[in-house]
Amino acid sequence: MPQLLAGKTALILGVANRWSLAFAIARAFIREGAKVILTYQGDRQKPTVEELAAELKAHQVLPCDVTQDAQLDALVDELKKQGTVLNCVVHSVAFANREDLDKPFVETSRAGFALATDVSAYSLVAVARATAPLMAAKDQGGGSIITLTYLGSTRVVENYNVMGVAKAALESAVRYLASDLGASNIRVNAISAGAVKTVSARGIRDFSKMLEGAAGMAPLKRNTDPAEVADAAVFLASDLGRGVTGNILYVDAGMQIMGFARTE
Ligand code: NAP
Repeated sequence: MPQLLAGKTALILGVANRWSLAFAIARAFIREGAKVILTYQGDRQKPTVEELAAELKAHQVLPCDVTQDAQLDALVDELKKQGTVLNCVVHSVAFANREDLDKPFVETSRAGFALATDVSAYSLVAVARATAPLMAAKDQGGGSIITLTYLGSTRVVENYNVMGVAKAALESAVRYLASDLGASNIRVNAISAGAVKTVSARGIRDFSKMLEGAAGMAPLKRNTDPAEVADAAVFLASDLGRGVTGNILYVDAGMQIMGFARTE
């Protein structure tokens, strides 16, 4: 079978460890022939991400804290200097203070709200603006920007709290960015993944119960496999996804359609 991403270059932000959704996406992209560049947030994460990059046979590892405009600029300058043309950017980044996930939503602090939306939603705008000039020309396929979201954006999911509001902003940003960048043939989409046990997810109180509940309630009667999320990202990054932009693609074993279900 031909590789779906042969000849394409992807920048992937958000690999923290081998359980990260971004790690599954990087692995799938490399399987499909893409050249993959990974980023890490700070010096503490550098050795882990470099180790994972070596295991995956990723092309390069560069620093990028998405809250620091200077770091985004430096990343883009480095890629420009190398003559890199990007075909895809994966934004798999989110953060909220643990205390804001532990308390009732009504008690979210102003600072906690600003932090969660800055890291988890505004950063997509900053990343899109910074990387759009590096994307392939519109008659060369343009580019695909993919972010990761969750059902807590449109439904109340207990304990998801401020992160749900940040994901609502993120999903809206996907639509506005898709509209702005469409003329350059840059597509912007989000994958709404079902709950997966990762470091970020473990910050949500009673996450294990959420996983259990979702497996009982989802039409497919199971949880989401990160490899399924990764394969959806391959589709959106590939030419097969060329007509899709401004979309939220649910890869969640069908969980988002459910209103109520009896779970034994
Ligand atoms: P993860 O492995 O913890 O990944 C989150 C990533 O965000 C980490 O690599 C983290 O880097 C990075 N990050 C946080 N602040 C950053 C900053 N200022 N600059 C750059 N990177 C930063 O967890 P994940 O579950 O794979 O999360 C990836 C995405 O999927 C998130 O948007 C999440 O909301 C979304 N998602 C997850 C689930 C789920 O159930 N797991 C479901 C739907 C959507 P450090 O570790 O270095 O801080």
